[in-house]
Amino acid sequence: MVQENHKLILVLNCGSSSLKGALLDSINGELILSCLAEKLTTPEAYITFNYFENPKVQPIGRRSWFVNKAGGDKHRVELSGKTDHTGAVEALLEELKAHDLQGLVAAIGHRVVHGGEKYSGSVMITDDVIATLEECIPLAPLHNPANLTGIHAAQAIFPGLPNVGVFDTAFHQTMPEHAYTYAVPRELYRQYGLRRYGFHGTSYRYVAQAAADLLGKPLKDTALVIAHLGNGASVAAVLGGESKDTSMGLTPLEGLVMGTRSGDLDPGAYGFIEEATGMSAKEVTDMLNKKSGLLGISELSNDMRTIQEAAADGHEGAKLALEITAYRLAKYIASMSVATGRLDAVVFTGGIGENSSLIRAKTIGYLAILGLELDEEANEATRFGKAGIITRADRTPCALVVPTNEERMIAFDTRSLSGLESPAA
Ligand code: AMP
Repeated sequence: MVQENHKLILVLNCGSSSLKGALLDSINGELILSCLAEKLTTPEAYITFNYFENPKVQPIGRRSWFVNKAGGDKHRVELSGKTDHTGAVEALLEELKAHDLQGLVAAIGHRVVHGGEKYSGSVMITDDVIATLEECIPLAPLHNPANLTGIHAAQAIFPGLPNVGVFDTAFHQTMPEHAYTYAVPRELYRQYGLRRYGFHGTSYRYVAQAAADLLGKPLKDTALVIAHLGNGASVAAVLGGESKDTSMGLTPLEGLVMGTRSGDLDPGAYGFIEEATGMSAKEVTDMLNKKSGLLGISELSNDMRTIQEAAADGHEGAKLALEITAYRLAKYIASMSVATGRLDAVVFTGGIGENSSLIRAKTIGYLAILGLELDEEANEATRFGKAGIITRADRTPCALVVPTNEERMIAFDTRSLSGLESPAA
């Protein structure tokens, strides 16, 4: 149910062949509807709609682009006519009309992957912003064109509504030069913008505030190392609410072991693989992005649940994949505490961070050097959308689980930038 007088914010997240959407109440951030369009630009393109009858089931929010935990209505529409992003946004408009919701939509927030060095916060989308995003395409050739397609579709189909861009990279613009500079000829930075940018910034911003609330401290006084562990994964050092360092770099390939991404690799491996196999640089990049990580090590799956089940059944590849993932993560968490200088909490979020008590236990097991001691009962109990402390509560630093909610963060930025009423107003 949409509460009386509450406006709605549409949040869009476009990939090359997909579109994820969420419709949220602008005042309380509650999720009303989510949708997912897939196989766009193919004859099989479709969109599913998922209504949340009682969004209050998720008190501090759990990412829920598609998962209808409230047991509301879900249905699918084939995009037989127009199968592109515009067709998907048109189908969304039709759906809103059928439920008399279209008149309540007051603004649209877009997840944009790369804002380069230009944006350190979210912005209203103007022609100048679109031009800058086009300039950033070489930095994110897979993501930014898809994000732009979504922006153009929204502008065409919801004319007159404000559109806001929320960047994955923006939060990390506070990283100091010594953290974002690669030790390569400086000309590459000056000429082409080769530096570390970092990603998952919207999630870090949301989780840092929620972690500060959980610790009962003002955000500006907190020193956190946050691990966002989803299919893509990264770690960030967040001091006083500002990013000081992060594990992803120029692209989302650097850093941790991920579902299909290798994370860190000797840069010399590129030339080695090319010479040994005859693959081109593009093919190697593709392999490191799509066939490596959990999938590459286990030779089984990119999905942590499958890996955990197989490891429990004795699958050697899965066992090794788990161990490398936890060990690399622990190394990164320890190194990020150099950037924060002190440490109140290690925070786990993302599908794996929120749900895998096994990965958390293994990682904390490697982190005795930081004085972390797991509370096994709390670790098992803090899953599936619950937040809480999972180490001995009398110790600092502690480890926390905090569910992320990127779409809510995007909705709130969209609300404030487009001048809609905020709860405090
Ligand atoms: P995300 O990209 O944040 O949706 O996270 C996806 C990852 O979370 C996948 O590797 C899933 O296997 C993992 N995941 C989700 N639920 C669980 C669970 N109950 N236990 C372990 N991993 C999970």
